[in-house]
Amino acid sequence: MRILLVEDEPALARQLSNVIADAGFVVETVGDGEEASSLGAIEPYDAVVLDLGLPRLDGVSVLERWRSAGIDVPVLVLTARGRWPEKLAAFSAGADDYVTKPFETQEVILRLRALIRRAAGAATAALECGALRFDTTTGSVTVDGTAVRLTTQESRILEFLLHRRGRIVSRLEIIDHVYERDFDRDSNVIDVLIGRIRRKIGVEVIETVRGRGYRLNDMVGSTSS
Ligand code: CA
Repeated sequence: MRILLVEDEPALARQLSNVIADAGFVVETVGDGEEASSLGAIEPYDAVVLDLGLPRLDGVSVLERWRSAGIDVPVLVLTARGRWPEKLAAFSAGADDYVTKPFETQEVILRLRALIRRAAGAATAALECGALRFDTTTGSVTVDGTAVRLTTQESRILEFLLHRRGRIVSRLEIIDHVYERDFDRDSNVIDVLIGRIRRKIGVEVIETVRGRGYRLNDMVGSTSS
């Protein structure tokens, strides 16, 4: 899952970026509203953490631009501005959640996870597919109750597939959500990682859809479709 962090205070941006990355997300940080506005319009982020007081363009205006352009990415506003009119303005502009500074960093992570799984249509913290279970709160994976150890990147890919369960996702789409912008998009690394995930989980839930990508479901008879 790929997160855009919009925060102009360098020390806070670094701290938050580390916490978000430690939680297993890919995080990209920008410090001004104009840049945030254009990046958010072209990059498929899974969620945004948005400060309100920003150089060049304030957070509410960034949000208004995205929403009027039909960009429905979940947005968590993180700001020192905790007065009611400011909250009202942010929610009216299309915010999904609002946290005021100072804040518990883990609370931000929990809220981000909740926003992402809600956006994917899941109400509970655990994503399941057949015998496979992925706990989005802890990042732990089990098959029939037995723990499976995945690397950060394998885990990101599996979580992304689970969020889009039943749908075909292309390699490029996977790359867009589990790597940073400058990643070499011609890489066949996704196929290699999918192969490793399949071996580790040992159940056939990831289907290869020839020429199109992968699809996760619990009815896979053959992995070569
Ligand atoms: Ca600020």
